[in-house]
Amino acid sequence: AMYAATGLDVWTMMNQAAASVGAVNLGQGYMSFPPKDFIKRAAQEALADGVQHQYAPPRGRPRLLDEVAARFSGLLGRPIDPASEISVHAGANEALLSAFCAFLEPGKGQEAVLIEPAFDQYTPNVAMAGGTPVYVPLRVRTSKDPAREVISSDDWKLDPAELEAAITSKTRILVLNTPHNPVGKVFTRAELEEIGAIATRHNLLVIADEVYEHLTYGAEHVSIATLPGMWERTITVGSAGKLLGVTGWRVGWAVGPRELIQPTLAAHTRIVFTANTPLQEGVASALSAARDNGFVAVQRAEYQARRNRLMAIFDDVGLPYVAPDGAYYILANAGAVRIPDDYEFPPFIEERGRNFKLAYYFTKEFGVSGIPPAEFYSPAHKDIAGDYIRFAFCKTDEGLDECAQRLQKLK
Ligand code: GLN
Repeated sequence: AMYAATGLDVWTMMNQAAASVGAVNLGQGYMSFPPKDFIKRAAQEALADGVQHQYAPPRGRPRLLDEVAARFSGLLGRPIDPASEISVHAGANEALLSAFCAFLEPGKGQEAVLIEPAFDQYTPNVAMAGGTPVYVPLRVRTSKDPAREVISSDDWKLDPAELEAAITSKTRILVLNTPHNPVGKVFTRAELEEIGAIATRHNLLVIADEVYEHLTYGAEHVSIATLPGMWERTITVGSAGKLLGVTGWRVGWAVGPRELIQPTLAAHTRIVFTANTPLQEGVASALSAARDNGFVAVQRAEYQARRNRLMAIFDDVGLPYVAPDGAYYILANAGAVRIPDDYEFPPFIEERGRNFKLAYYFTKEFGVSGIPPAEFYSPAHKDIAGDYIRFAFCKTDEGLDECAQRLQKLK
């Protein structure tokens, strides 16, 4: 019943608004370009096989477990045991839900701390697991005026004192997303050390959503699980959709010590039983090929070029923004856009307030659609979304060039 009450999700809402006016869709973070041929071929070969069409083991197909273990042994700097320290999920989203279900006990008022802006699935997923979300927002620390000047994603800071003040005797989990959606912030080692110390002091499980770990633009991605004493209390979540540019395949994983993965796997088994078999094989083959052909580095350079292209477009039309150190989103500040007083909004936009109106108006009037980051905030903190609109740059050059044309109206 709680889902009926929440109404339309922001992705469907903004996709529909974009389609209704033929807008260039920089909203939902899916790739508007096809995967590389070797990735498509990996899936085709898996489907052509006669036997890979039945249930996979709930933990995942052995070849995929081996590939994820190889990648994460490198990323986390320790040998990962594929038989006990990984579970494969129906997307990173289901890995998160499984972890919440495994470690939050319903009816006890147990809390999970979410850092805002917080990806919109965290709140309902914590609630579905019977937990209570508690929110600590990133604060924009800058002497500059974000309505006028380009700032860095690193200007968004978590105040450790504010985090610690939000923790109670009922807090069980801290969710950490780095590189961060939608800010693009890549938490520094020093920041992670402070967060890790707080998690340790209060004996919290850290769920590290690191689905954009491969997309950083100069900043160093640090997995919090690599800090001293943190492996034991961290579940690191990753995504084949993000890593290979195939968000529709719905394959993701959780990596951590046996004691944390076993309950996560048990929850997963009762939620979806297993992730789909042929695409697990496809991901395994693609990851194996990617180790030989340097795909991840090539892809990072391509995304960096897309990021720079969109930032140059915003620079050209005088739209200030938050320059991202990672992931594939840019928060642009549309505070200078004036909405006529008599402009009519549909009720589902009107009731969601200023930030939604701005994103909707921008879609309709400029033909470029983004996501209102207010959706990533709890009611008490929605104002921090300000006049930002989130634009995704996992899009074709042609699409971005079309944006450049349409945004000339801003000049
Ligand atoms: N992670 C993607 C984004 O933030 C897609 C989210 C979704 O569609 N649930 O755009």
